[in-house]
Amino acid sequence: MSARILLLGGTTEALRLARQLGPETVYSLAGLGRVPDDLACQVRVGGFGGAEGLAAFIADEGIELLLDLTHPYAAQISHNAARAAELAGVPCWALRRSGWQPGADDDWREVDGWDELTCALAPFERPFFTSGREPLAHLHEIPEHQHWTVRCLQAEPAPPRAEIIGARGPFALDEERALFARIRCDVLVSKNSGSASTEPKLQVARELGLPVLLLRRPSLPVVDREFAEIEALWEVLQQRL
Ligand code: NAP
Repeated sequence: MSARILLLGGTTEALRLARQLGPETVYSLAGLGRVPDDLACQVRVGGFGGAEGLAAFIADEGIELLLDLTHPYAAQISHNAARAAELAGVPCWALRRSGWQPGADDDWREVDGWDELTCALAPFERPFFTSGREPLAHLHEIPEHQHWTVRCLQAEPAPPRAEIIGARGPFALDEERALFARIRCDVLVSKNSGSASTEPKLQVARELGLPVLLLRRPSLPVVDREFAEIEALWEVLQQRL
């Protein structure tokens, strides 16, 4: 019989893995993005109610292995996963994707949080935010000399001096080049997700000589096994299935 797995998702890698797994696996999503309806495994949507709620779910459902394949900036759920696995007495394995590394021609600057980011953005006029929904909560604070372009999962109406683009990766290099040309951005804002599917924007920034402001990665808990690549995790996982 196959091991009963709880797979915490929300990333491209998690969906790839979910496609390989059968009905004994529960694939869990927060519910912010698209929920696939063509998987053989069970799909569960919504939070568990903290680490204790997650531990209770693990016990109630007879889960034997917890897989944390959430986004590197989704720190809360990763901390909950590590704690819940401990409470429930099951192993937790995680995909800990490496961050992108700058090349010799890159002008990358790391910032810690929103306040530091807005200070670093002050000299620029046309920032392009690709760091999630956070800028949407600050649209009323756009400085007089700036125009913001914000790309996030869902578009919504934008105030003057802003454009909100709804789009989800992967993003192709040619399309990113065309977008940068159209919006005439002078600085790129990003998380350092390390994902190949969103990396082309960094190539375009490099080609145009644009600075990149990267939000610093949050610290994540140490778990029983950590994998830098989904292929390595899959190889070890197959021995347990
Ligand atoms: P977060 O701050 O770490 O988590 C907030 C809460 O959302 C958690 O405490 C948990 O609620 C619930 N949650 C998160 N992931 C879940 C999952 N896979 N299954 C069930 N509940 C989950 O997470 P976030 O940054 O809001 O991200 C939410 C989801 O989007 C994550 O699954 C992540 O993989 C994905 N995502 C995040 C980013 C990002 O930049 N943060 C980017 C791309 C995708 P309870 O405490 O109630 O259990």
